Amino acid sequence: MPKSICDFCSSPNVTWVYPARTFAAYVFEGIVGESVGDWAACPICHGLIESGRHTELTERSLVTLLERQPEMKSAEQELRSHIRSFHTMFFRNRVGSAMTVS
Ligand SMILES: [Zn+2]
Repeated sequence: MPKSICDFCSSPNVTWVYPARTFAAYVFEGIVGESVGDWAACPICHGLIESGRHTELTERSLVTLLERQPEMKSAEQELRSHIRSFHTMFFRNRVGSAMTVS
């Protein structure tokens, strides 16, 4: 099923899909999130992933999340570590190379 936003930064400009297994993850404290199947990516996040710039990818996700939900700013440090571990789980559950979205 095609996704409409980037799973990393929520950009509506999705051009890539990463095949991935479904996995359970703690997204935020006390809430168990499940990542279902493939992850969508915009050109910028795809570039960061392909060049192994994981720290920049985490920062980009964090910045775009705080833009949408500024009230979470006080939990910035916590959010950063959650996003980082969520991305780490994604990289472990990737099952192939990125495919372009047609
Ligand atoms: Zn993105």
